[in-house]
Amino acid sequence: MDEEPLDDGATHLTSLELIAAADGDVDEAALHHLRQCPRCLQRVAALRSLQQALRHRLYRALCPSTDQLVDYCQGLLSPAQQVLIARHIAACPHCSAEIDLLMQRDPLIDRLLLSDLLNVRLSRYAR
Ligand SMILES: [Zn+2]
Ligand SMILES: [Zn+2]
Repeated sequence: MDEEPLDDGATHLTSLELIAAADGDVDEAALHHLRQCPRCLQRVAALRSLQQALRHRLYRALCPSTDQLVDYCQGLLSPAQQVLIARHIAACPHCSAEIDLLMQRDPLIDRLLLSDLLNVRLSRYAR
């Protein structure tokens, strides 16, 4: 049984700290915590692969946006769009890999966090 609740008495990194850590921007305290907390370390790793996927995506102008893929995963798109994106994913190894990532993501990396991450990334790349 490894699914203990998050409030196990330990002070874990906040979402923002996790994102910063995934970016390689980590302070002493966070680093110290990560060394002894597999849970936070795993989240940082998940965020990092998500960031890498996002980075790759920026070169694929024809692909649906990550927002759209997230909506697709959650079934929030119109039926026509769902079909369109399903068809694209079937033909696009990049997007299907990203869908895998989105589907297996830690519950912590929820929609809100994901769009935060996306905004940070996009503003950084848009300069
Ligand atoms: Zn932790
Ligand atoms: Zn694609």
